[in-house]
Amino acid sequence: PYRVTVDGPRSTDALVRGVSVASMTIIDAICGDITESTFDAIVNAANSGLLGGGGVDGAIHRAAGPEFLAHCKELKKHYPEGFPVGAAAALPGCDLPATWVIQTVGPNRHAGQTDPADLAACFSRSLTEAARVGAKTIAFPAISAGVYGWAPAEVASVAVAAVRSSPDLEAFTHVRFVLFSDELAQIFTEALTD
Ligand code: ADP
Repeated sequence: PYRVTVDGPRSTDALVRGVSVASMTIIDAICGDITESTFDAIVNAANSGLLGGGGVDGAIHRAAGPEFLAHCKELKKHYPEGFPVGAAAALPGCDLPATWVIQTVGPNRHAGQTDPADLAACFSRSLTEAARVGAKTIAFPAISAGVYGWAPAEVASVAVAAVRSSPDLEAFTHVRFVLFSDELAQIFTEALTD
């Protein structure tokens, strides 16, 4: 019920120049469980330790299985001081329907990480990383809107702006925000229709 479809920034070009509509990217928001997404890539709001936690991170680890945890341990070896806030790395989706999990770490407002640029980087770098591995469809959760304490409306507006301005957007046919409550889905829908 909260699904909304918004044309990407290139749609104006497409209309003006008569370019095929196949070059457009759909950006939408739905209420759902991201672990069930059949998109090529889903994004995980991980923590810097990379080995799982609560919220969406825990749900993804449970659904992706032990092989996924082994990939996380390998990735962790490259980041002995912790995976940086705003960075992104692609791992295999293992037992998930998604082919890839893009690990990113959102800023933790409770730890004084209040710069929206760090949150925007999670979205834009996840798109870059997903494009690098060949994903054409990608699903995002509301990064930092849970335990990390950011206001959902701010996450939604930062997320939508970051996705719309991404230089990698044209690699994707569909970018979707998968939100865990109707209320959150409504907030993202409003940000998309602003
Ligand atoms: P963070 O630590 O980055 O704040 P959380 O996992 O605590 O991450 O919360 C991020 C968002 O993910 C919250 O809105 C939470 O409700 C949501 N969430 C939790 N589980 C799922 C899931 N299975 N699918 C989609 N979103 C989820």
